[in-house]
Amino acid sequence: MTVTGFFPGSFDPVHRGHLDIVARALGLVDTLVIGVGVHDGKKPLFPAEERIKLLEDGVAVLAEKAGKKFAIVPFDNLAVDAARENGAQIIIRGLRDSADYNYEARMDGMNAEMAPGLETVFFNASPQTRHIAASLIRQIAEMGGDVTHFVPENVAEALQKKFGT
Ligand code: ADP
Repeated sequence: MTVTGFFPGSFDPVHRGHLDIVARALGLVDTLVIGVGVHDGKKPLFPAEERIKLLEDGVAVLAEKAGKKFAIVPFDNLAVDAARENGAQIIIRGLRDSADYNYEARMDGMNAEMAPGLETVFFNASPQTRHIAASLIRQIAEMGGDVTHFVPENVAEALQKKFGT
């Protein structure tokens, strides 16, 4: 049996912490589908099409290195439904700290009732990238700070273009 994993998130924008989880998840699955959330009422910095484009470069390199398949898709429904629609048997999530754990444990419990059999696999964030958060990257970039430590080159360029810094 081949295994497909679904990694949902906002990815606004993708950063090195996300790519660390992608690299490790590719070691576990045959195909990794990354779901970029499009939710009414949540105004992102980058529209979904751009978030997908920014993900593509970094993920393609990692997937080729791992010899695995990948897809990046937008979704506007429940992660469990989007996972099923994309043929996934597992959902992938990253855990940075106890705040992530508390939220994810509740979400996992509710998902288990809504979609029995669809398991969530959690990756503990790596020490080198654990501190990275998209919300802080957006703030730093807006204030003209250097975000090159935290994001791939294409994202740093996109942020520079957006804020003219
Ligand atoms: P969401 O809005 O779903 O939290 P994010 O784009 O912020 O979307 O995160 C997507 C996934 O990536 C989540 O599982 C999150 O815990 C994980 N993640 C975010 N930042 C990091 C990081 N620095 N290291 C590891 N995982 C991370």
